[in-house]
Amino acid sequence: MQIKKGIAVSPGVAISRAVVIDAEDVAIPRRVVASSAVGKEINRLDQALEASHKDIEKLRDQAVATVGEDLAKIFDAHLAMLMDRPTIAQIKQAIESENVTAEYAVYSVMRRLAQMFSGQENRYLRERANDIWDLERRILGHLIGHSQQELAHLDAECILVAHDLTPSQTASLDKKKIRGIATDAGGRTSHTAILAHALGIPAVVGLEDITGAINNGDSIILDGNRGQAIIEPNAEQLLTYREQKRKATAFEHTLDELRKLPAQTTDGTAIALQANIEFPDEIEPALGKGATGIGLYRTEFLFLASETEPTEDQQYASYKQAIEACNGLPLTIRTLDLGADKVWLGGYTDHAERNPFLGCRSIRLCLQNLPLFKTQLRAILRASVHGPVRIMFPLISNLMELRQAKMILADVQEDLDEQAIEYATDIPVGMMIEVPSAALQASVFAQEADFFSIGTNDLIQYTVAVDRGNERIANLYSAAHPAVIQLIREVVRAAKRANIDVSLCGEMGGEPEYVMLLLGLGLRKISITPPAIPEVKQIVRSVSIEKCKRVMRKVATFETEHQVLNYLREEIRRVLPNGTLGSR
Ligand code: PEP
Ligand code: MG
Repeated sequence: MQIKKGIAVSPGVAISRAVVIDAEDVAIPRRVVASSAVGKEINRLDQALEASHKDIEKLRDQAVATVGEDLAKIFDAHLAMLMDRPTIAQIKQAIESENVTAEYAVYSVMRRLAQMFSGQENRYLRERANDIWDLERRILGHLIGHSQQELAHLDAECILVAHDLTPSQTASLDKKKIRGIATDAGGRTSHTAILAHALGIPAVVGLEDITGAINNGDSIILDGNRGQAIIEPNAEQLLTYREQKRKATAFEHTLDELRKLPAQTTDGTAIALQANIEFPDEIEPALGKGATGIGLYRTEFLFLASETEPTEDQQYASYKQAIEACNGLPLTIRTLDLGADKVWLGGYTDHAERNPFLGCRSIRLCLQNLPLFKTQLRAILRASVHGPVRIMFPLISNLMELRQAKMILADVQEDLDEQAIEYATDIPVGMMIEVPSAALQASVFAQEADFFSIGTNDLIQYTVAVDRGNERIANLYSAAHPAVIQLIREVVRAAKRANIDVSLCGEMGGEPEYVMLLLGLGLRKISITPPAIPEVKQIVRSVSIEKCKRVMRKVATFETEHQVLNYLREEIRRVLPNGTLGSR
């Protein structure tokens, strides 16, 4: 039994077997096995060598058919290396004499070999190092775990263990089979975390070296409330967690009863609780949880889940599906927010960007790729005849960007007019406030935007200079930072002064401890991940606006995020003693 601590990003408990996804270039930690397990490791190695052999033969045959015999010879070289007796003998010897896992033996022997080749003067020999690395990854792939393609078709339920997952990898997983996600890397509001939460899959990230501590098939308890993974748990732990799961399900059932009740405070103030979604088929369950509209539709996931660029008609079909699923409730469609961690292999995003979160992402990427942007706007406008939509531009950081985006939208409307294609003419056009420059200039933007939605996930990272996906500095990423709270307050004030709609759609809105503060700051609309809606509604229905204002005033007296967070947690535990926070 071993306990690993990480960052809880999606609540719930999962108890299942591990499936470890092959990490691209991760160091394999040295892990010692019992002497009695050495035979098993040798067996695993033999199987992995055989499977790799079959892979390469298949690749060689395919290559012969497509590029011809000569170029396919590269695979003959791989096969020869794979059968190289001295190398295999060295790997086996490492397992037997050092009692290490097969993966560590492969990793250490082949790395040494590759380094030896890469240090050669002769170019031909130097290039052989790449072949060895390639081969090493292939063998490790069979030893460590499944390739991504296989993950889309898992045959049993499991907890997925990976070094890191990109949002597009997460989007294409077989959601019915994945009971939990555990990763070495990642932060609280990384998009993988957001997606896991939206799908209701318990997830813990930032576990540092979970991929090294776990083997395929090991049993794990993944605790998405406390942020820990228990590898090969004992009987007592299993019993405790099964009981905890039962209680959590019972708490969820009590919340389900709130579904039809209005989200209003004890003094009768109505609060709009809307949902954030990535795919149209999340809408029906979100409405089932009590959402009264979709405050954020992250349209880039249509791209991330596809290898090729979605056509205008495909995008139109998606938006129409989403509008129809909303059944007359408002749908806020955010234009493409590709880039940064939402790298799309199909194009446009640049892997090698030095500072991707400060780079050509989101609206910047759209304004530099007008055909891409216009195609999306055309598809949204065409779909707008099917029900109420709002268009929202992400990551606006200066007024010119908002003006340019609106100009492009007007161009597209003109094109549609010329072609006599119908669209709704009363679509509200708003923007996300997720960059401090926009927050500070909110009163200027309020003159030209129909609405604001505060994106705290990015607003926090840009305000406190902390990458939202970096587990090493996750302790510095906090919605409770007084500077963040001050910015939110200014944005809400500016919107109210200009009489425009304002909401908040960052993960902060779904975290129980912040609900009273946000209401106290004047927010009356919050868009959150669907699983969080019942609990947030429960809080809304248990407090008065007067109480929330008192909380907000008290928070304004604090100077550090620790003071803020401790105070907010105390307050929420008083309001909701049985809530999810109780278990943290
Ligand atoms: C945000 O930044 O708060 C937001 C909602 O957008 P995303 O998480 O997609 O960046
Ligand atoms: Mg954002």
